[in-house]
Amino acid sequence: MMKIAIAQLQDTRQREFFFSGSKEDLGLEGIEFPMQNTEVTAIFADADHGYYLHGDARTDATLVCDRCLTDFNSQIETSLAALVVMDQSSEFEDEEIIEVDPSSPYIDISKFVQDSFMLALPFKIICKEDCQGLCAQCGTNLNEGSCDCEDTSIDPRWNKLKELNLED
Ligand SMILES: [Zn+2]
Ligand SMILES: [Zn+2]
Repeated sequence: MMKIAIAQLQDTRQREFFFSGSKEDLGLEGIEFPMQNTEVTAIFADADHGYYLHGDARTDATLVCDRCLTDFNSQIETSLAALVVMDQSSEFEDEEIIEVDPSSPYIDISKFVQDSFMLALPFKIICKEDCQGLCAQCGTNLNEGSCDCEDTSIDPRWNKLKELNLED
């Protein structure tokens, strides 16, 4: 888990925290893809109802390409920005909020960092811009070679039309 002791924050000498380690060490088990060299920097500043958190997070992820279904490595970097709210009676609607129970001695940022990594993923995960994907008929990875299906990729309805034309 990535926990920051509130007592430590109140002692203004340390406001910057650095975390690294495995998914389990960091409390990021909810992320499905493998991660390596994950590093998180969190910096706190005083805010009216708690703290303002900013920082950054990076990891070397192993993702699966949506087009060719092959594993590939991708560096994911994201910036962190949130308001840590200790006073739950206050209302904040337009900002990222980390709510902390006033009786808790810690601020746990694992869930927030996990969400930030997920949001940093591209909508379409592809191994490279010009990934050729798999042949829809035989499943050959067209990045690695061609297959014999290519010449028959004409829409079969077109063949029907040609037959009709010949009859006329
Ligand atoms: Zn691909
Ligand atoms: Zn094929």
